[in-house]
Amino acid sequence: MSERTDYTETSVQSIYGSNCFSDSVMRERLPKNIYKEIQAVKAGEKELSLEVAEVVAAAMRDWAIEKGATHYTHWFHPLTGLTAEKHDSFISPTNDGKVLMEFSGKELIKGEPDASSFPSGGLRATFEARGYTAWDVTSPAFLKQDPTGTTLCIPTAFFSYTGHALDKKVPLLRSMDALSKQAIRVLRALGNTNSKRVVTTVGPEQEYFLVDKEYYDQRPDLMLTGRTVFGSMPAKGQEMEDHYFGAIKERVAEFMRELNTELWKVGVSAKTQHNEVAPNQFEIAPIFTTTNVAVDNNQVVMETIKKVARRHGMEALLHEKPFAGVNGSGKHNNWSIATDDGINLLDPGENPESNARFLLFAAAVIEAVDRYALLLRTSAASSGNDHRLGANEAPPAIISIFLGGPLTEIFDSIAEGKAAGKNTNLGKIKLGVTSLPSLPKDLSDRNRTSPFAFTGNKFEFRMLGSSQSIAPPNTYLNTAVAQVLAEFADKLEKASDKNAAIEAIVKESYAKHKRIVFNGNGYSEEWVKEAEKRGLPNVRATVDALPVLIDKETISLFESHNVFSKEELESRYHIYLERYSKQINIEAGVMVSMSRRSILPAVSSYVGSLARDTAALEAIGADNSAQKKQAKAIASLLKEAYEETEKLETVLAKAQNVEDVFKQAKTYQEEVVSQMNALREKIDNLEKLVDKKAWPFPGYEELLFKL
Ligand code: ADP
Ligand code: MG
Repeated sequence: MSERTDYTETSVQSIYGSNCFSDSVMRERLPKNIYKEIQAVKAGEKELSLEVAEVVAAAMRDWAIEKGATHYTHWFHPLTGLTAEKHDSFISPTNDGKVLMEFSGKELIKGEPDASSFPSGGLRATFEARGYTAWDVTSPAFLKQDPTGTTLCIPTAFFSYTGHALDKKVPLLRSMDALSKQAIRVLRALGNTNSKRVVTTVGPEQEYFLVDKEYYDQRPDLMLTGRTVFGSMPAKGQEMEDHYFGAIKERVAEFMRELNTELWKVGVSAKTQHNEVAPNQFEIAPIFTTTNVAVDNNQVVMETIKKVARRHGMEALLHEKPFAGVNGSGKHNNWSIATDDGINLLDPGENPESNARFLLFAAAVIEAVDRYALLLRTSAASSGNDHRLGANEAPPAIISIFLGGPLTEIFDSIAEGKAAGKNTNLGKIKLGVTSLPSLPKDLSDRNRTSPFAFTGNKFEFRMLGSSQSIAPPNTYLNTAVAQVLAEFADKLEKASDKNAAIEAIVKESYAKHKRIVFNGNGYSEEWVKEAEKRGLPNVRATVDALPVLIDKETISLFESHNVFSKEELESRYHIYLERYSKQINIEAGVMVSMSRRSILPAVSSYVGSLARDTAALEAIGADNSAQKKQAKAIASLLKEAYEETEKLETVLAKAQNVEDVFKQAKTYQEEVVSQMNALREKIDNLEKLVDKKAWPFPGYEELLFKL
């Protein structure tokens, strides 16, 4: 399937979106009135009727079949964090033994996969296994081309018979509605009558590693867990800082070229690519788009990275920490709020009016992040990300906001109701009257250590793990901001002097929540202490981060905006805890197996041969003290490795038998993970002493440096 597109013959424009049932394809292929209807449905002004769906389905089918599709699927986001699809062919037999290719409006709008094997966290009683999928009209259908054929993928939402969200899409769409509703209230109160809807926009930067397939296939840990559970750092790591933004190796460049082509075809706007900090680590970023589409696109990006890597004899690792000793991988969620008529509400703009609006919306984000910091923290919690957050590479586990000097000063001066400092040269800021000094668009002192940074006209949430769906962080963020905007709107709607009201709101809000603003080095020990003084939570482990999901305040937040019901939150809490335990269980199991069945026997026979060599040297009267010393050192480490393996088996068995889901996760975190670390230390030290030829697995040299 690996095809090299020659861009001197085929233009990017002709390829872009060729496998996407995009807006322009719809405009071309649908009758004018139907196209208009669909636009209205997309804008949330109308419900999709079956008659309209019939026409769209027929056009979609014809388009897909022309492009070689034989099947269609409702493509959805179950709570596994992956995507799911069940393929149905278009065929419909006729009486004369032939077939028609059919696809009805009903089949477009609604699917009914057997939901019983997806995690539901108790939302679906076993007697009611049915789940439904419903087309997300705002995210375009696309074609997936595989060696198995071409499939029309219809982005959908997934819910139970009783209407509970079984996926990550339904709550996300609800959160976007909630934010739109409250933002529009604020805008109306400010005198805006044009904007009809507000959306959030997201541009996620995706990091990943590539390894040669030959070595990958020899590492059961990589195959089964996505990360190396053993492995000692070679003499060289990332200390030379020679990989970041370095020239891209040819083999990788070929891969990236095909990755871009594949993404462009389905209308994913792959834009930026570069080497990342760690060896064999890379990044891809698309141009931002509406959040639900960005969520779908990011899943496509992750899938396509994996697929295309295999075509090039490589395996892509999306895990947050594939290798100890070098940086792990994250995902930066660039996020903003925009109106349907093109106003970026987090852009300071050029006149006093847009400045006032900007400060109001920015204040809402600051307040939301402070009030719901734990919720945002939990949105990035996973066993993989536990290796990064707070481990001096990714942002710390403490949520704080970087605003940059000039903006901080502006907010401070408003909050203190006094003249701004000398840098901004403002005098007293009167909102709606004074223009802001121009804020640097690309803040030059961009702080890479902040988990939540203002970057000119958007915020960048940097805690996310590389393998995770970006739906939950955006769902939580949208809802948190919606809540604060709702409170702002309540006040604004009552006020007669709008400018005075904006000023009062920003002043009160910022004064109360400025503790979340921190422009310094987030990796430093001083910050940990300072954050504690400020009362900011520092939750390092997933298991401790998850309970906020079923907190009273969380439930009331999500219920009041119709994003999650209490049951839906409980189900997620349950599923995420379970997933954590399962993940650690697999990793520990892989460790035990690699240790017992490969490493310990290999080291044992190696140290035996070393001992025999030592005896042979003695027989000829040679000085064998060096060999003896080495053999002894290995033998004693080996004994310890045996003991640690046994201990791991014991705590693993213990954890497996804990009934309560929270207590079980806690046992994995407190007892299993620490024992995994203890075993790893012994094995990694052995790897440094044992003959490379005797070691049963390829090492970090091969995995990190060969491509
Ligand atoms: P960085 O300097 O952090 O590596 P990049 O240029 O790689 O930044 O990525 C920035 C991302 O932010 C891109 O995906 C870009 O499309 C996105 N972005 C830009 N403006 C907005 C916006 N208004 N809303 C959401 N995302 C945005
Ligand atoms: Mg970034």
